[in-house]
Amino acid sequence: MGDQTGEEGEYTVLLQIKPDEYTVLERRSHAQYFCFRSTVSDLEPDSATTVTYVIDNADKVSYPKAWKGSTVFYTTNVVDADSWKRKTDTTYDKNGNLVWTHTHERNGSIYFSYFPPYSYERHLDLVAQCGGYANVQSLGQTLDGREMDCIQAGSGDRVCWIIHRQHPGEPMAEFYAEGLLTRLLGLDSNGEVDGLVQKVLSLYTFYIVPSMCPDGAVRGHLRTNGVGSNLNREWADSRDQLGADYKAPTLERSPEVYHVKTKMEETGCDIFLDIHGDEELPFNFFSGAEGTVHWGGSRLESLHGVLCAAYSRTNPDMQIPVGYDPSPAGSALKNIATNAVADRFNCLAVTLEMPFKDCLSNPNPERGWSPNRARMLGASVLEPLAYVHPYLRAETDDWIGRLPAEDAYVAPSSQYNANDY
Ligand SMILES: [Zn+2]
Repeated sequence: MGDQTGEEGEYTVLLQIKPDEYTVLERRSHAQYFCFRSTVSDLEPDSATTVTYVIDNADKVSYPKAWKGSTVFYTTNVVDADSWKRKTDTTYDKNGNLVWTHTHERNGSIYFSYFPPYSYERHLDLVAQCGGYANVQSLGQTLDGREMDCIQAGSGDRVCWIIHRQHPGEPMAEFYAEGLLTRLLGLDSNGEVDGLVQKVLSLYTFYIVPSMCPDGAVRGHLRTNGVGSNLNREWADSRDQLGADYKAPTLERSPEVYHVKTKMEETGCDIFLDIHGDEELPFNFFSGAEGTVHWGGSRLESLHGVLCAAYSRTNPDMQIPVGYDPSPAGSALKNIATNAVADRFNCLAVTLEMPFKDCLSNPNPERGWSPNRARMLGASVLEPLAYVHPYLRAETDDWIGRLPAEDAYVAPSSQYNANDY
C-alpha cells in the first residue's frame, strides 16, 4: 500500500511492510519480507516516469541492521523466478527508510521483492513432479488445512532428514529444495540420474520436507505460521520472555513441527539439515549444534568439519570461516530444530543459511544471491553427503585422526572484513 506525491513525471511512493501475526513466545511481531506489484497506467507514448520507492517503516522490522548492503529485486515477469534482477541503487538512509528508484518506460507492472517468491502453486507442482519418482506422503495438516508434504527416496542404511523454509519469508530455502529434488529424482531428465546420485540413493533413505510453513508462505510472513508461531523455536518446551512455561510443539500452535517430529521418532535420524536464509550475513554458511549435550566429545564436531569441508570443495558458494558465533558449551537453545535433533538422536545436525544479499565470496551485483544459485547449492549437497556417510555412525572414532587436515572443524565467526572479498 502507498501514497503518491510529487510533480508529473516524478513520484515518490511510500510503503510499509506488514507484520506477521503476533508471536507469543517472543512477545513481538516479526516483519521484514515483502513482495509487491507496482502499476503505471497513464504514461504517454515515448515518455517515462521515475518513481522513488520508500519503505518508511524499514527501521521497525526484525533485523533493521540487515538492510545495509541489501538490494531489492525487481522483474516484469513474476512467474519467471530467474528473471529477477537487483536495484543496485537501494539504500538504507539515516532516517530508517529503505529507498530505491525505478524508471518506468511504459505502462504496465513491475514487481519488487526482498527475495523472489516461491509460490504455493510452484510448491504443489514440485510435489506433484516428485510423486512420479518417489514416495510422497503427507505427515499431517497445517492449521489452514494444507498438507505437510514429505518426499521419501532412497534405500540406504542411514536416514537423512532435510527440511526447508521453517521461516516462510526465506524463499531461497525452497528454491534449494527444488534443486536438490530435481537432481536427486531426475525431475528434469525423466528420472535418469548420474552415478553419484545412484550411489547416494543407495547410501541413504531420505525424508525431505520442501516447505515446513506453507501457511506463513501464503500469507507473506517473514518468520511465523498462520497463528504467529516461529517454527524454529517450537522444537522443545521453553520459557517465554517473561519466564513463563511455554509448551512446544503443540497441535494448536505448531502442528508443522509436531508432525515432522512424530515421523522422525518413527524413522530415526542419522543426519539432519535445516535450510534457511539469513538477512544479515552476505555468505552461505552452516550453523552447527555447538553447545548441545553431545557436542562436547570430538565426534559431532569432527562430523561437522567433514561436511563443511566437503561441501565447500564441491561448491565454493559454500564457505566456512564466516557464520554465527557458536554457542558456548551447554548454552544452545533446545527449541531450535538443529539443537533439538542433535540432542535427541546424537547425530550430525546443521542449519544452512543462504544470504538475502549478494554472496560476497562469489559476487554478482546484477543478480546477487538468486533462485538459480540456491537451486545449484541444493543440487550440490549430494557430494558432501556421500563423503560424510562412512563416519556418521562409525563404531569407533578412529576415523577422526585419519582425516586430512582440511576436513578439521573450524569455529566460524560473524566478524569479517568486506575488503577481503
Ligand atoms: Zn530462518
